[in-house]
Amino acid sequence: MPKQKKKQFDLITIFPGVVEPYVHASILGRAQKTGLIEVHAHDLRDWTTDKHHTVDDTPYGGGAGMVMKVEPFEKALKKIKRRLKKTRVIITSASGKTFTQADAQRLSQYDQVIFLCGRYEGIDHRVEEHLADESFSIGNYVLTGGELPALVMTDAIARLIPGVIEAQSLETESHSEEGYLEYPQYTKPEEYKGWKVPEVLLSGNHKKIEEWRKQQGK
Ligand code: SAM
Repeated sequence: MPKQKKKQFDLITIFPGVVEPYVHASILGRAQKTGLIEVHAHDLRDWTTDKHHTVDDTPYGGGAGMVMKVEPFEKALKKIKRRLKKTRVIITSASGKTFTQADAQRLSQYDQVIFLCGRYEGIDHRVEEHLADESFSIGNYVLTGGELPALVMTDAIARLIPGVIEAQSLETESHSEEGYLEYPQYTKPEEYKGWKVPEVLLSGNHKKIEEWRKQQGK
């Protein structure tokens, strides 16, 4: 089998410490150890030049809160974005298009996916217009920052990269086809406090189990 190219995820944030523990645990951590992926959290403040490491300023036109400046993101991208690689720059935004499994599938084909994590009132729109390729929301609600959305998307994309999890697990899972939701799953014991596992799953009859699962999947 030809050696698979390592995929790289870069999250640009003012809170790298929020991102690190998650990406080093469990499946993402293992995938990094085995060399399938690399996930890096970068501190946006490293690309500021003033003594206070300022990343935000007041909004033009007035209004509440602060807006994240263009310059640190531009400088960060200049350094992080790999030339000659298939890259995608994603801005996290509550007003972006909703991220789906199809997007995860498509983005798993890129060599490098970079996430820009907003805070405060969001990121100066010129970043979306001139520096990002796509803008994604993870749902119709507003979070305090783009770190969780970036992690959600990294996780959804990374698990689709061959070898990160068992290929069989991906075959019949929810959203593997548009609109499909997986059948209910059960494990031991057969009965807990009178709550029983459906009999068909204990029958050993693989054809019947298959039929039941098809019928239960939506
Ligand atoms: N003022 C913005 C609005 O009304 O759309 C909300 C800004 S929010 C408090 C701060 C940052 O959190 C955003 O710039 C974005 O990076 C992130 N964020 C919040 N909710 C999000 C969501 N549902 N999906 C993706 N990113 C989100």
